Order: sequence, then structure tokens, then C-alpha cells
Amino acid sequence: MKTFHRIRIAISMLNPPAFRIKAQPCEACNNPILVKFDDNEHMVRCIRCGANPINMSVIAAIKAHAPNLESSMVYELSFKGPLFEYLNKNTGQLSYSEYLDNVEPGEYIDGIQCQNVEHLTFPDDSFDLCTSVDVFEHVADDVRGFSEILRVLKPKGLFIFTVPMHENPETVERATIQNGKLRYLLPPEYHDDPLRGANSALVFRDYGRDVSQRLKAQGFSTVDLVPHDQSAWWGFGRSVVVAAK
Ligand SMILES: [Zn+2]
Repeated sequence: MKTFHRIRIAISMLNPPAFRIKAQPCEACNNPILVKFDDNEHMVRCIRCGANPINMSVIAAIKAHAPNLESSMVYELSFKGPLFEYLNKNTGQLSYSEYLDNVEPGEYIDGIQCQNVEHLTFPDDSFDLCTSVDVFEHVADDVRGFSEILRVLKPKGLFIFTVPMHENPETVERATIQNGKLRYLLPPEYHDDPLRGANSALVFRDYGRDVSQRLKAQGFSTVDLVPHDQSAWWGFGRSVVVAAK
């Protein structure tokens, strides 16, 4: 059933002129074949686990910077997808969560813990590694979120994550919450949300090159922007932020 579902999704993604296939191991599951269904970072996939170049960029950075996963306490800010599957298989102890509407942080619904990254319920110094893929552009107070991740990391712990990066030198705020009310500063833009559906996650900001300064201002000791391997995924892939407590 799962295979049939994947094939159906693959056919619906296909743009025949852009279709390419090549022998290259998936960073997530080592399956040797990658497919490009269309000229889009979301449309390059491992046909076994569904990882795209964003997932693979993060996993490559984890392998390079946090190699001792099997003895690590790790926190990932989602409960499904290729990065979650990779961490679940390779990590000593994995904590994971979702932001769930109308659920108190720390509570569980159907085995999934609710967490709000602006107010995490974990004790200080809990994790060796925290990870997220394209989450922080949707966090209303990202600076507060960064300081919470810093708090729950152990000394020298790493925060490895992606956000869509823009060419602008400075981050541009698109929306904000003032006095409890949402205010748009630019026309609203949305991304797909795995729980809430297509175009349901508001983008609060477009990150620029100053993302490193935003993290350092919260107390991270070093922040590196690790470039992706341009030759690996038909040129797609992401710079990954690797920040150390
Ligand atoms: Zn794979």
C-alpha cells in the first residue's frame, strides 16, 4: 500500500521534460538511486525514503558535525519525514514533538508530544543535538525560540537546522504578533504544513545572511553556515546552519 501510494505521488509530481535519474546514494537511507521529477528542490527525491535535498543537506551536516549519534540525546522538532526516520534509526535517545493547536506544551496526543519552541518544557542542558527543517521561518518569536534551544542544549551541544535562505543581507520580517494580534508587514506568504495541509503555515520572515548574528546574539558560541555539495543533487540543496552552545 505504501509503495503504491509513493508511486501515485511520484506520477503526480512528474514533469516529463525535467525528469532525470542518477546513481547516487541517499544520505538518509543509502538507497543508490536519486530521481528528479521536476526542477524544484522538493521534487528531487530518494525513491525509497522520499528524502529531498533539504533533508539530505541536514543529514550530511549531522554526519560531518555530530558523528556520535548512537550515544547522543537528540531533539527533533517534528515526528515524521526522512530526517525523523534517520534520527529514529541512528540516535541513542530521540525526543520529538510537534506544535499542536490547542494542546498544552508537554502534553501528548496519540503519542506525539506537543511543544512550542518559544516555551519548551524540557529541563536545561538536556540534549547533545537539536535539529529542525524549515521550522523557524514559521515561529512568531524566533529569537525566543533560539534562546530556548540554547537553554535545552548541553554545553557544547549543537543546533543543526535549515530555513529558506534569501540573498538579502538582513532578515526581512513579513508578519509579527503585537499585543496578541497578528499583523502583516508584507503580503502574507504560506508554506505547506504536514499536519494542517497545503499553504497553511504562515511565513513570519525571510532569513538573510544575518541569521548567524541572530543566533550569536542569543549566546551561541559559534555559528557556521555549511554550504551544500553543488554537484550532489542537480544543484539543489541547502546551506545548513550549525550552531554550537
Ligand atoms: Zn533514502
